[in-house]
Amino acid sequence: MPDKTQHRIVPLIDQRAGSLTVPLTAMTGDRLKPTQGLLIDTRGRPLRDLRISVTDRCNFRCSYCMPKDVFTKDYPYLPHASLLTFEEIARIARQFVAHGVQKIRLTGGEPLLRKNIELLIEQLSALRTTDGTALDLTLTTNGALLARKAQALKAAGLNRLTVSLDGLDDAVFRAMNDVDFPVREVLDGIEAARKAGLGPIKVNMVVKRGTNDSQILPMARHFRGSGIVLRFIEYMDVGATNGWRMHDVMPSAEVVGVLQKELALIPLEASQPGETAQRWGYADANGQHDRAAGEIGVISSVTQAFCSDCNRARMSTEGQIYLCLFASQGHNLRDLVRGDYTDTQLAAAIAHIWTGRADRYSELRGFEGAAPPGDGKRRVEMSYIGG
Ligand code: SAM
Ligand code: SF4
Ligand code: SF4
Repeated sequence: MPDKTQHRIVPLIDQRAGSLTVPLTAMTGDRLKPTQGLLIDTRGRPLRDLRISVTDRCNFRCSYCMPKDVFTKDYPYLPHASLLTFEEIARIARQFVAHGVQKIRLTGGEPLLRKNIELLIEQLSALRTTDGTALDLTLTTNGALLARKAQALKAAGLNRLTVSLDGLDDAVFRAMNDVDFPVREVLDGIEAARKAGLGPIKVNMVVKRGTNDSQILPMARHFRGSGIVLRFIEYMDVGATNGWRMHDVMPSAEVVGVLQKELALIPLEASQPGETAQRWGYADANGQHDRAAGEIGVISSVTQAFCSDCNRARMSTEGQIYLCLFASQGHNLRDLVRGDYTDTQLAAAIAHIWTGRADRYSELRGFEGAAPPGDGKRRVEMSYIGG
């Protein structure tokens, strides 16, 4: 048995040191890239979705994301000075929106730990897409602070919310978050969010075989007919610290099988291009979708690659742009916002980054297991880049 009191030694800094600098030629002179308008990457994929990590810290220690023996109090979290300010984040976000981004998700770490997060939400909610419509502005949270913050988030302009919840059984949930946090408080947070009008709410459950698969049916029963969409996520080989093994992944097909033993499901169409979840509706006695009972989703990030229409960019708390969850290097925008660069140059840099994108890790990985990233460098952690 491994000694749980000992900390694993993982080289921590180099995952974040792999930063690419945007060449000056992309931002100056005749070769200036377009500064607005839809961008298409090398595989024909548009840029539509920006995920912004607002902190690399968290009050949970989910073993699949921030295992306790690595993310100790001695872990070198980002120093305050390297975090982007809300003004810097909003300035970068504005250029992404001018390039076609329609949806922004705030994430982390735990985004509700970032002080005065509602001030950032206020700034982002004022942005308009290239069609002149409001952004789809959302946030993913573990729900621990939600009961306290739901009203303020809504008042600041947040449209909707995703809450991560890995089980209903208190003992299973406390073991999953690994800080002994009670499930009741997350359920209260969801209720507070609903009362505040933060809908539609989604609940994400990462399924780890042998750890919380007992919770698939109880979770489905609980949220069926509640107006909340429950989504089951395959445990991914993201990062380098969670000790991922294919054996611990419960494929979505198996999750649907477990559900169908008790609950009749029918497949539904994707609601928009680039949607990560396959949707299943609860069926009525005639085999039609029972809208009052609602739907569930499964996100098969491991067993069914969806890279071909992946339209997401991710920005770390310190302003590194990642083009794939499994990338080992980010593109440094912080030095540009803190340097002597104009908005036009910043927008041209974003165009340079997206138009050069070729990432499709899940497609290349194939079904049977994880391969190291192509250049052999360490992968970035989910808590740094955001989910
Ligand atoms: N702390 C917030 C939360 O948990 O909702 C936001 C950040 S968290 C990194 C975003 C999402 O990533 C969560 O839904 C979490 O369950 C998911 N996640 C983290 N590690 C994962 C992994 N190895 N496989 C699949 N999903 C993972
Ligand atoms: Fe924290 Fe979210 Fe990661 Fe869990 S999944 S450790 S709540 S950042
Ligand atoms: Fe997108 Fe990378 Fe995931 Fe493929 S592996 S869907 S490119 S984030």
